[in-house]
Amino acid sequence: MPQYILALDQGTTSSRCIIFDHNGAIKSLAQKEFTQLYPQPGWVEHNPMEIWSSQLAVAAEAMAQAGLTTSDIKAIGITNQRETTIVWNKDTGEPIHNAIVWQCRRTAEKVEELKSLNLTDYIREHTGLIPDAYFSATKIAWLLDNIDGARARAEAGELLFGTVDTWLVWKLTAGKKHVTDLTNASRTMIFDIHRLCWDEKLLTTLNIPANILPEVYPSGYHFGDTDPAVLGGEIPIAGIAGDQQAALFGQCCFEKGEVKNTYGTGCFLLMNTGNEAITSRHGLITTIAASVAGKKPSPGNDNSKRITSQFSLNSSHICDFSPAYALEGSVFVAGAAVQWLRDGMRMIKSASESQEYAEKVADTEGCYLVPAFTGLGAPYWNPYTRGVLVGITRGFTKEHFIRAALEAIAYQTVDVLKAMEEDAGVLITGLKVDGGASANDFLMQFQADILNAEAHRPECIETTALGAAYLAGLTVGFWADMNDIRQNWHLNRTFAPSIEAKQRENLLSGWRKAVKCALAWE
Ligand code: ADP
Repeated sequence: MPQYILALDQGTTSSRCIIFDHNGAIKSLAQKEFTQLYPQPGWVEHNPMEIWSSQLAVAAEAMAQAGLTTSDIKAIGITNQRETTIVWNKDTGEPIHNAIVWQCRRTAEKVEELKSLNLTDYIREHTGLIPDAYFSATKIAWLLDNIDGARARAEAGELLFGTVDTWLVWKLTAGKKHVTDLTNASRTMIFDIHRLCWDEKLLTTLNIPANILPEVYPSGYHFGDTDPAVLGGEIPIAGIAGDQQAALFGQCCFEKGEVKNTYGTGCFLLMNTGNEAITSRHGLITTIAASVAGKKPSPGNDNSKRITSQFSLNSSHICDFSPAYALEGSVFVAGAAVQWLRDGMRMIKSASESQEYAEKVADTEGCYLVPAFTGLGAPYWNPYTRGVLVGITRGFTKEHFIRAALEAIAYQTVDVLKAMEEDAGVLITGLKVDGGASANDFLMQFQADILNAEAHRPECIETTALGAAYLAGLTVGFWADMNDIRQNWHLNRTFAPSIEAKQRENLLSGWRKAVKCALAWE
C-alpha cells in the first residue's frame, strides 16, 4: 500500500520536494536553488529546463533519502510560483525563450495600453485582477510579439503556453498532458473567474491564439500520470495549486471567512470567501481558491457539486462546478525589512535576533517606520511612495528602530485585513500564520494586539507544499475528507490580544499619520 504523498514545490528561487505521511508529517525534504537571470534592469527570467531538472533532481533525492520507490507514493501534488510564463514547442519540447518571471516588469507599457483601451474595469470584473505586468497575459503577448515567427507558429498549433505547473505536468507525463488548475489560470489575466473559461475578448485584444492554452481543471483532480521513464513508475498527479492558494489550503482555511497570512519576504494574505467572488473596493484582488471536486468543507459551503465534464477552452461550455474564491492582498516589504536591518543597516546578525532587541524596549517611543521601499501595495497601491522614519527624539535607539521595523510588518497586515473585513463584510477574529517571520514571537504577539484578533501558528509551517499534498491526497482517497486533514493541523501557539482598546487606537492612529507622511514623500 502506498504510504506517502509527494509534493513538488516549485518556488521563485528554489525547487523543493517534500514527502508527507498520512499525519501530514514530513518524511523527507530536498531543495535546490536555481539561476536567476536578469537580462536588463527590471527584467527577470528563469531557464525552464533548469526549473525542470532541479525539480526532477529534488524529487529523486527526497525519495532516495526516505528509501522510497514510486510504488510507495500514492500521488503527486504540485504547487508553484504563480504567473511565471513559459511557451514551448509542442513537438520538440524546446522552450522558445526563457520563462518570464512574475517579478519581471518588461510588459509595463503593454499594460498601460490595455488601460488606455478602457479595459481596467473589464479586467477587474472578469478576471478579478488589477491590470498589471505581474500577471501572465502580457508576458505571453510579449513572447509572441518578440520571438521570431512565434505568433505564426502559435497560430499553426505548434506552440504551447503554460504557467510553471503546466510545464511540470507536461514534462512529468512526457508531453501527454497540457493542463492547469483553476488557481493558476486565475492569475493569467486572460481567464474569466466567473464563467471558468478563457476570456475571448482579452485573448483577441492581446492577439493570443486559444489553441496554445492548457485545459483547466479544479485543483484536486487526476491530471495525468507520470511517465515511467521519468521517475521509474506511474504516479497519479492529482493536485495542483499556485503557492498562495496552496498555503491557504495547507492551513485548512476551508470555511468562508478564514484567513491566513504568510510572513516571508513580503506578506501574502488570503481570505476564503466561499462560493462568492467578491469584487474589492479597497485594492484587493479576487482569485480562485483551491478546491477539490466533490469534497465539501462544511454543509454551508457548497462547492460540492461533482464535476460532470471537462472544462473546455471556450465559454460555450458551462461546467457544473462551483469553486471557492478568495480575496488576496499583499504587503511588499515584510521580512525584507528584517533582511535590511541585517544586511543594509547591519544592526542585527540574524533575522531571529530582531526579537531579542525588540523585546528590550517597552515601545518605539512614538516612532514609526514605514518600509515603503518600493512603494505601497494593498490597500494603498502607490508605486511612488518611499520609506520614512517618523517621530524620532533624542532617546531613540537601535532597539527602538528594530522594534519599529517589526511593528511595521504587523501594521501593514492590519491595513490589508481591514480592507478584507470591509470587502467581505465579516469581522476577522482569528488569523492563521506561517512563513519564516512567523517564528518571531514578538511580532506574532504584537500582531494579535494590534489586530485585536488571535494569531494561530501551526506546528508545520511548510503549508504550501502541505496544501499541494492535501489536494492530491484528497483526490485519490489517501485522506477521506476535509475533516480527516483538519486532524493534521496542530497548533504550535496561539497569540491572544493583550492590550486595551485605547492603546490600540493610539498606536493605529500614529501609524496612519506615518503612512500619510510616506505618501506625502511621493
Ligand atoms: P520567502 O519564502 O519569501 O523567501 P521565508 O518564508 O523563507 O520567505 O521567510 C524569510 C523571511 O523572513 C526573510 O525576509 C527573513 O528576514 C524573515 N525572517 C526569518 N526569520 C525571522 C525571525 N525570526 N524574525 C523576523 N523575521 C524573520
